[in-house]
Amino acid sequence: MKNFRFLFAFIVTLALGPLVLPEFYVTLLNYIGLYAIVALGLVLLTGVGGLTSFGQAAFVGVGAYTTAYLTTVYGVSPWLTLPAGLAVTAAVALSIGFITLRLSGHFLPLGTIAWGISLYYLFGSVDFLGGHTGISGIPALQIFGFELKSGRQFYYLIWALLLVIVVATRNLLDSREGRAVRSLKGGTLMAESMGVNTPRSKIVIFTIAALYACLSGWLYAHLQRFVNPTPFSLNQGIEYLFMVVVGGVAYVWGAILGAGLITILKQWLQDWLPQLLGQSGNFEMIVFGLLMILVLHRAREGLWPIILRLIPEHPERPRVAHADALPRRAILPAGSVLLEINNASKRFGGLIANDRMNFKVRSAEIMALIGPNGAGKSTMFNGISGVDPLTSGEISFCGERIEALEAREIARRGISRSFQHVRLLPTMSVLENVAIGAHLRGSKSFIHAACHAERAEEARLLHEAALQIERCGLAEHMYDAASSLPLGKQRIVEIARALAADPCLLLLDEPAAGLRYLEKQALADLLRRLRDQGMGILLVEHDMDFVMGLADRVVVMEFGQKLAEGLPEEVQRNPAVLEAYLGGVE
Ligand code: ADP
Ligand code: MG
Repeated sequence: MKNFRFLFAFIVTLALGPLVLPEFYVTLLNYIGLYAIVALGLVLLTGVGGLTSFGQAAFVGVGAYTTAYLTTVYGVSPWLTLPAGLAVTAAVALSIGFITLRLSGHFLPLGTIAWGISLYYLFGSVDFLGGHTGISGIPALQIFGFELKSGRQFYYLIWALLLVIVVATRNLLDSREGRAVRSLKGGTLMAESMGVNTPRSKIVIFTIAALYACLSGWLYAHLQRFVNPTPFSLNQGIEYLFMVVVGGVAYVWGAILGAGLITILKQWLQDWLPQLLGQSGNFEMIVFGLLMILVLHRAREGLWPIILRLIPEHPERPRVAHADALPRRAILPAGSVLLEINNASKRFGGLIANDRMNFKVRSAEIMALIGPNGAGKSTMFNGISGVDPLTSGEISFCGERIEALEAREIARRGISRSFQHVRLLPTMSVLENVAIGAHLRGSKSFIHAACHAERAEEARLLHEAALQIERCGLAEHMYDAASSLPLGKQRIVEIARALAADPCLLLLDEPAAGLRYLEKQALADLLRRLRDQGMGILLVEHDMDFVMGLADRVVVMEFGQKLAEGLPEEVQRNPAVLEAYLGGVE
């Protein structure tokens, strides 16, 4: 409610602005709006998706030059050059994205610098785009026959479009696809294991960010009525990044705050510094550099979260409402073979982490995989779930070979897992984290999400997540940030997330580590209930009392090989196991 009032006050102030402000400030606000549109794309791409781009200014240039060229040379109406510019930008972004988004670490930002520079020089070197002098005589925009000739008239168009984009971006982030994008930051391993197509998510946010930049460029061209390559240089690309870092790179409103602060500050510094220092020069850039370092030291998240702390009521996290249950996978008859491992081997250079492993897991069965540290248990899990494929051997699931499939395809077929080293998104609520597990059970696209036309599906997904959280006994923590839970409970959140996928085989890597006695008992009860409902469970665990009291069968590993297999009491009596695993001690 408070947020709504804040938004309302903001819109009223915006609407009244040009009526009272001098021309100079209206112009400044126009530029802030144009920059904020680009910065919003960076929030999505860099702040939320974790992909850093220095090249956004080049996409602004694509939007500006497309309309400049088409309107001046062919006399096309500006309202037709917008879709044309968006189409050109999408084509450029998809081709560049396809190549550069495969790069990881610092190679990606370097890649964006490379194409940012290339596009900039392309604008300046191509004759039909006017070289470094650019293109002038771009027509004014017309709305219903009314020409937007002054900055004051243009103002409303810029800010109306910006607000539309703010709403669309917020909607997008608060959706199934938005969660998938946010999960990129938790590492692609986790996201892929939950069925997220991470290359697709990356390329979509890259393209959306480019389209925002293109829109800004189109507006710019018709506001200025003239374009040349200067505003689309790498310098400007760095400035856009600067804006979001200062404003708050992970926050939609941070983009507007950052664009506003940097633009106003730059103007002031340009006016005052030369007077103060008694000589002219680009002193503002030096101050900016220092300011950036200060922000990175003191407010790494940017300034928006600091402002948020002053507002008593925080942004609402998604809440559960009643909704229809999602359809469930058919349950296989108890005892049918779910998973069959045949001669599975995994090498890491000279180390054989899994050496010709063989075993089966059936439905309605709890199978424990035990062995000393470094025996190869987690490696086996990674092989089964497709996160780190086998070097050789076969894995079948429900009679079909899966060892060569992508992790997300294996997840789709009904295998879900937790990780030994917890992989939750720390700032997201338990509910949202668990809802990532239900990713494959929804189908609505980014476009539905941006218009919030997927609310019914979203309600069902969150409802499902809430059911799994209750099932795992974490109802009281539903809306808490995942990072606020003790590590043991975070493991249980991982189980709830795995269950939200409605799997028929559950892989749990040390789920009881860090739990207290009563919590372990509750976990054992949960796993028994799941088994009795027909689920197959493969479990790695070190607590022998826990394993022996729970598992139906046990596989013992040592040095990557299977040492023994059988009922818990058989394995416990096996001399080789006692020797190897327990060091010969009773
Ligand atoms: P466990 O889960 O049984 O404790 P792991 O499967 O984690 O054991 O590890 C088995 C062996 O493989 C260990 O010697 C470990 O150091 C090695 N190993 C695991 N992952 C990798 C990797 N990505 N690269 C190289 N060696 C690895
Ligand atoms: Mg392990």
